[in-house]
Amino acid sequence: MMPRRHFLGGLAVAGTAFAIPASVLAQEATNPPPSAAPLDGHFHPLGKAPSKYTVEILEQAKAKLPFADTRDFDEKNKGLIAPMTEMKIMADSGHVAWDMERFQFLDQEAEFDSIHPSLHRQSKLNNNYGLYEVIPGIYQVRGFDLSDVSFVRGKTGWIVIDPLISAETARAAWNLFQKHVGEGLPVSAVIYSHSHADHWGGVRGIVKEADVRSGKIPVIAPRNFMEHTIAENVYAGNAMNRRLFYQYGLLLPASPHGYVGQGLGQAVSAGAMGLIAPNRLVEKEIEEIEVDGVKMIFQDTPNTEAPTEMNTYIPEMKALWMAENVIASLHNIYTLRGAPVRNPLNWSKYIAQALYRFGQEAEVMFASHHWPRWGNARIQEVLRGQRDLYAHMNNQVLHFANQGVTINEIHNVYELPQGLQDKWFCRGYHGSAQHNSRGVIQRFLGFWDCNPATLIPLSPADSAPLYVEMMGGSKKILARGQQLHNEGKYFLAQEILNKLVQAEPTNTAAKNLLADIFEQIGYQQENPGLRNSYLAATYELRTGIPQGNTADSSSPDVIRAMSTELFLNFLAIRMDSRKAEGMRFTINLITPDNGEKFLVELENATLTNIQGFLADKPDLTLTINRTDLEQTMMGAKTLEAQIKDGTAKAEGDVSVLAKLGSTMVDFDPRFQIMPGTKSFAANVAKTDAYEVSVGEPTPE
Ligand SMILES: [Zn+2]
Repeated sequence: MMPRRHFLGGLAVAGTAFAIPASVLAQEATNPPPSAAPLDGHFHPLGKAPSKYTVEILEQAKAKLPFADTRDFDEKNKGLIAPMTEMKIMADSGHVAWDMERFQFLDQEAEFDSIHPSLHRQSKLNNNYGLYEVIPGIYQVRGFDLSDVSFVRGKTGWIVIDPLISAETARAAWNLFQKHVGEGLPVSAVIYSHSHADHWGGVRGIVKEADVRSGKIPVIAPRNFMEHTIAENVYAGNAMNRRLFYQYGLLLPASPHGYVGQGLGQAVSAGAMGLIAPNRLVEKEIEEIEVDGVKMIFQDTPNTEAPTEMNTYIPEMKALWMAENVIASLHNIYTLRGAPVRNPLNWSKYIAQALYRFGQEAEVMFASHHWPRWGNARIQEVLRGQRDLYAHMNNQVLHFANQGVTINEIHNVYELPQGLQDKWFCRGYHGSAQHNSRGVIQRFLGFWDCNPATLIPLSPADSAPLYVEMMGGSKKILARGQQLHNEGKYFLAQEILNKLVQAEPTNTAAKNLLADIFEQIGYQQENPGLRNSYLAATYELRTGIPQGNTADSSSPDVIRAMSTELFLNFLAIRMDSRKAEGMRFTINLITPDNGEKFLVELENATLTNIQGFLADKPDLTLTINRTDLEQTMMGAKTLEAQIKDGTAKAEGDVSVLAKLGSTMVDFDPRFQIMPGTKSFAANVAKTDAYEVSVGEPTPE
């Protein structure tokens, strides 16, 4: 996620010196009075305290939560060998890669009136920070990143499962482990459970690539791993990176009124992400492999939490590792940053298989987030609950859909059964019943509710002015919106204020009132993705999208992992078709070192490619080794320079490359989401025409 980090360059993400432009402070004097007095101690000068309605909602929620069940705290604390004493882990490039200091406030008060009690509880549980024994021979370092890293004793060394996001946090975890348990033995194997970046990004902190290439260290992953590590994020990469600011609250300081953790873990580390390709893929549905003398049974679980994922059972230790298929939360069916909707029924069935294949005898179950479960009864309880959680969501949502409930209503209709609501590990700290239920309908029926009025709707900015006019103008809307706000009717208030902000993006009073409304809704959420999204919009409405330059670079490992076809597909997305009107040419692209060839064609203002074909009479034939092409993809050397010095061979009309290059557009990682928030001219980094600028894979 390099673009994101560069975007953040001017902000103190650690939450100390949080820069608010002076112009924002000045607004207060000239605008109508805000809906409540700014709160002393809030990180934002326009920030408000939770209202009495919000406090009441959180108190009611608290009364219904199963606080008598404290087993999660026992399980999270069990087996502690050594807490991590340094609160910050530094990145090799000098900045702070990981900071647990900023979450200590969560343990300092019993409750906060601006944090949902269930979310507060989860964030306290995620304040585990150190080395833990799972059972003799299996250890975990937790709280060093969004995910956990696990170490299993092999015959000659340590089998590392899911080495975090950054080399620095993975290395720090390994060092702590070695200090207390590791006996100086080396890493003997690595396992990646799935394609999301928090499960492989730190691998360079614990092994050398040469040892993987030589086969000395097996790196085991589920089939199609490399295809999916990058593919999930390329086509809509810039949009996903932008949307992370909402789901992950990237602009929000850690604070009772801001960011309070991510549910899966406290945060995403900001060190060096790298990827070493696996040298051993698990190809079968169930595959037994002896890994450094330890018998492991891998269960392939495609199209569950990730497109490619696997669970692992270690029979000799009766230890079941559930990857990210089973965690201490409801997971995302639909993920707010944007991703294809997942298959909850499939997910449920793979959990059921694990329950009946391994869960009848397993004595410990651990995963790549949160804490382990001990004892067969507890394991079965969790597996059964999680199985039913995803199945229920699939079945009951479709049950309602078959009776006419639409994507625009389901989140107000669907509820988890009480039995699941009473289980902490089924509550929504990543997915929520609201956004997941909409996701299920999206998966099966798509976006349309079947009302023709929503079939070809006007864009919000085009319909809003008529609403404002018919409602009697902005003054009336502001007054009514204020009244609804004062009565705690925030969802009604957002309906009309959103129309006003859409119609009048420069109306600061409207934006500030909508921000106040969003803030209260944000405080009321149990789910951190929902909370962060409301509070991120609050922040941007009050302050605007932060100024500053963006830089762009993708890590070399990510570029290497991208297939040439994916690269060509991405170029076709980066191309502004309107600039390609009337262009027509054919290029044969040949990459001799890996034996690939592509027919690339521009026609009808559309760029296409097909692998394995060549045109008989191309306008241009470009021959370049894939390894050299990567230099161009990462922006180190232009295609022109490659041709000029003979690294690439161009036969035919070379001018088509410049023509194609002239159609390429740089995506702005700060595009506007809420109207009237882009108050500063963004300086988007100018990338070369054939450079890949998708950012880095998203953790989850
Ligand atoms: Zn994860």
